Amino acid sequence: MANTVAGQPSLRANDRLAGMEHSEVHYFNSYNHHGIHEEMLKDEVRTRSYRDAIYQNKHIFKDKVVLDVGCGTAILSMFAVKAGAKHVIGVDMSTIIEKAREIVAVNGMADKITLLQGKMEEVQLPFPKVDIIVSEWMGYFLLYESMLDTVLYARDEYLVPGGLIFPDKASIHLAGIEDGEYKEEKIGFWDRVWGFDFTPLKRTALTEPLVDTVELKAVVTDPTPVLTLDLYTVTRSDLVFSVNFVLNVQRNDFVHALIAWFDIEFSKCHKPIRFSTGPHTKYTHWKQTVFYLNDALTVEQGERIYGTLENKPNDKNRRDLDIKIAYRLGTEDPGRQAQGKCEYKM
Ligand code: SAH
Repeated sequence: MANTVAGQPSLRANDRLAGMEHSEVHYFNSYNHHGIHEEMLKDEVRTRSYRDAIYQNKHIFKDKVVLDVGCGTAILSMFAVKAGAKHVIGVDMSTIIEKAREIVAVNGMADKITLLQGKMEEVQLPFPKVDIIVSEWMGYFLLYESMLDTVLYARDEYLVPGGLIFPDKASIHLAGIEDGEYKEEKIGFWDRVWGFDFTPLKRTALTEPLVDTVELKAVVTDPTPVLTLDLYTVTRSDLVFSVNFVLNVQRNDFVHALIAWFDIEFSKCHKPIRFSTGPHTKYTHWKQTVFYLNDALTVEQGERIYGTLENKPNDKNRRDLDIKIAYRLGTEDPGRQAQGKCEYKM
């Protein structure tokens, strides 16, 4: 999934959207435009991982009924047909599905793929149960946009007992980074703007995580997994969580921010397929998510940063997240002892 909201489409664009919340309308409209699909299809790490996971497992896909949740341009549906699926059902709310129909037809797969426009939670499937669910549902910080809810709905409603989910494991990772220069540019900027005190906006800027690529050399702590989701068992309530973490400091430096990223695994493959969206590996359109701390920590090699990461879908708009990070530097040095608690919205 791509997250970037492409343009500001007219709210009249799609009558079916009437009755939905404004934010929902906006969300689905953003997927109407081909640009957002271009970004996802061009994401080599993303699309190749799905392709490999499907093509390298023809023994799993052969003669199966597959559900592609949020099929977009139907790329994953066509991978599944090529891997021998008996039939694929692709569901998407966005008008891109009209183009997906044409794409499927020009590729000679119209008799193998049924495409339904609508919300996954509302459409009527032509099969009561499916053998395999494929979906690319991940947002920034893994959970932004909360499309995972939709995949869990599809799992509980349609997956046969013993059916498979591609991918089936997702994990969130954290690390501390030195980012003085950019923090100054983005946050310090608000201290003085054209001769005026703009600090009210500084607080706002601090609460908004930045989605950006982080250079590996900025990473000051060990990359640390903090949460793993098993798609076979996870429930909606697990997406409200509070987890403790310990980050081991690798070198003497400052820590201006914590960054988060996610890894994805297709574990039911002949040869398991994984990809990471971390700073130590190839670029993906998810980049990393940067959470600036109110005050920088001065850290020394071997010390630890202890903390808690809390996440909760926003009460008003479930697609937004309320995230809290509490942290404390474990140091013997009274002059550098520090702790804090920051709240973010994304
Ligand atoms: N599978 C495609 C597109 C992934 S983007 C690919 O891999 O390239 C996610 C898609 O899911 C978007 O096109 C969006 O419109 C759709 N989507 C998100 N939530 C949905 C829901 N509840 N019902 C139907 N479609 C949904």
